[in-house]
Amino acid sequence: MTQVVETRETAAPATAGELLELVRTGRAATRSQLRALTGLSRTAVTARVSALTSAGLLQIGEELASTGGRPPGALVFNRHAGVVLAVAIGRSRSQLAVLDLDGQELAADSRDHEVGVGPDELLPDVAGRLTALLQDVAPPVLGIGLSLPGTLDSVRGLSIGSPVMSGWDGVQLAPYFGEVADAPLFVANDADVLARSELLGGAGVLDDVLVVKASTGLGLGIVADGRVLSGHLGAAGEIGHTTVDAAGDLPCRCGATGCLETIAGGWALVARLASETDHHEQPVDHVRDLVALALQGDSFARGLLRDSGRELGEVLAVAINLLNPAAVVIGGDMAAAFDFYVAGVRESVYRRSAPLATRDLQFLPATHGDRAGVVGCGALALDHVLSPVAVDARLATGG
Ligand SMILES: [Zn+2]
Repeated sequence: MTQVVETRETAAPATAGELLELVRTGRAATRSQLRALTGLSRTAVTARVSALTSAGLLQIGEELASTGGRPPGALVFNRHAGVVLAVAIGRSRSQLAVLDLDGQELAADSRDHEVGVGPDELLPDVAGRLTALLQDVAPPVLGIGLSLPGTLDSVRGLSIGSPVMSGWDGVQLAPYFGEVADAPLFVANDADVLARSELLGGAGVLDDVLVVKASTGLGLGIVADGRVLSGHLGAAGEIGHTTVDAAGDLPCRCGATGCLETIAGGWALVARLASETDHHEQPVDHVRDLVALALQGDSFARGLLRDSGRELGEVLAVAINLLNPAAVVIGGDMAAAFDFYVAGVRESVYRRSAPLATRDLQFLPATHGDRAGVVGCGALALDHVLSPVAVDARLATGG
């Protein structure tokens, strides 16, 4: 007896959420293109498109006042169907933004805070500022993306190890945002969100990118095959705390000795500048001050940045040999002095990496510059709330 085996093209996108993704990412703009890409019947495509239009996520070309030259019946992703909130918390500054579903900024706010501030002091203030930003925003908040320095547990939504944000480890972050919006909170490391910002209109054309966060601390965001890698415990890319011989037994702020940060992190450069020079009129408290000096022509500050790039490059070379990225993107405060910093990075990388791994390698400044943190936090939230699974779940509950 012949056994009938039912087969289903599991690889082909089939749900409404998957169809929305095809439209949103520009792979399909009409129902017939959706049919061709999915193999679904006319009736099935129509049903899913109508579910998406009822939910306000898709619009049909001819129903729009301006179709922007699209053919009649063209499907358009409605980026105004909701907003996401971005919360990029750094050691001394928090940047906030409200973004539409295409990642365009609708409102923003940035404020400095004291180094060492705890969650109970900072987060109620952040929540209040977000509520103020939402005052003139009508669409519903679909999600909140938050970044912190250090290692984050993305499942439980908390910090599990940050040498710079003491007092934050193990603290549940979502409850602080309960009053702002009835929306899920997604958390990630600050270098990971920098990597995500490059996927949003940046080096996003490239599928394999290493994104360096060169600021007070040093971190690495890894994009491989178009996805951000965070690792088994979320600690991927913590290169600042790699032990390097050149650091000897210098004490690091993480409690260990001999970390890369002790000779190349912004905090270490600021300390060296303060101890080895006395001719600076302006106070140098932050790596941004040091970068400003370098841009004004200070040769000592320029030398420090180049040295930092060189030391980072020693460790980065290993990552380049492992992952063969198309580009190394430099973000963080030191990226403002890109030329000086990258000169050092190149020196080590070309000396230590395999020729094939560096043959087409590009060095680029972060696409979104000083805004990269909030853009990346927005991208983090968007990736979650617009994922096919999340869209399908929202359609199923009528939300
Ligand atoms: Zn360390």
